Amino acid sequence: MSKGLVTKEKWWKWLEDKKDRLFLSERAQKRYGSWFPPEVKVVKNGKEILLPSGEEMYRYFWAGEEWKVEEGEVNTAPLFFFSLPCEARAIIEITDKVFLHEPIDKNYRQRRKSLSLGILACLQPEPTCFCSLVGGGPFWKNEEALFLVPRKEDIYVEGEGELLSYSEEGGEKVKQEIQTLQKEVESGLPSPLPSYFSQELYQHFEDEEWDDISWHCMNCGACTFLCPTCYCFDLSIEGRLKGFQLRSWDSCMFPKFTLHASFHNPRPTGKERVRQRVMHKFSYFPEREGNFACVGCGVCVEKCPVNWDIREAIERMVEKIDRLRA
Ligand code: SF4
Ligand code: SF4
Repeated sequence: MSKGLVTKEKWWKWLEDKKDRLFLSERAQKRYGSWFPPEVKVVKNGKEILLPSGEEMYRYFWAGEEWKVEEGEVNTAPLFFFSLPCEARAIIEITDKVFLHEPIDKNYRQRRKSLSLGILACLQPEPTCFCSLVGGGPFWKNEEALFLVPRKEDIYVEGEGELLSYSEEGGEKVKQEIQTLQKEVESGLPSPLPSYFSQELYQHFEDEEWDDISWHCMNCGACTFLCPTCYCFDLSIEGRLKGFQLRSWDSCMFPKFTLHASFHNPRPTGKERVRQRVMHKFSYFPEREGNFACVGCGVCVEKCPVNWDIREAIERMVEKIDRLRA
């Protein structure tokens, strides 16, 4: 992996021919908007690019004697998405694992192949952030993505590719400055959850604590739509003799999400639905994939209309588990 400093002038030169293909997350825009041209498309997170909220999977029509089916088209032009570390991690460590493992989702794979990632260091974690608790960090990086630390007059860059050819060696002084900055930003952040948490949480599926944890969530689903790692979707058929299959975002917070055709609902109340959201992110997914399905971005905490806070649910269950282990 190469490292170097790119001056503002060279950064703008590198961006010049990419203007129409640049995406920036809303949270990264708040901090680094001035480093991007006005043409940049601002999105909530990478899910909006890779898994659109409504997508035609295929079109069909009755052609007199047989059904004709045409697959939906996916734009495969190379795109660049710049985001905070947690938002990039949501793609690399969560949605990629879901959609690129068998059975592979063809549309996701096509979009993902043409998407290059840029991770902008998070120099001012917000009060709602908790990335360190779930295995991430403000300087989290990955070998497939460019890692960038915008400074006053230049950008510190790590990675591979064309941008690095515009960079100059920063030397020991810059290395020290970046390390000091990282230490400052990371100081005081919470330690990761205990390694036994996901397994032990599973043992508390029937715990009475869930009544208390869930009662004030009104199951509006806002948190799941804004979450960069929530990926549940619904498939519906739109039209009879001619139409299309629509894939649209769904939410485990909605009563109909698990409603059976028999009208039986295995998650009939808010308690079961909140428990599912927490269990999936902190027990089922990590037991299967090795990491939590929450990157601690805190967006759900910030946007919840009734201030339901997923950190409180986790803290309560950690306390309870540790009490019983003592
Ligand atoms: S936690 Fe908040 S945002 Fe999420 S469903 Fe409940 S009330 Fe809505
Ligand atoms: S903090 Fe909330 S919005 Fe962010 S990844 Fe975790 S559950 Fe999703």
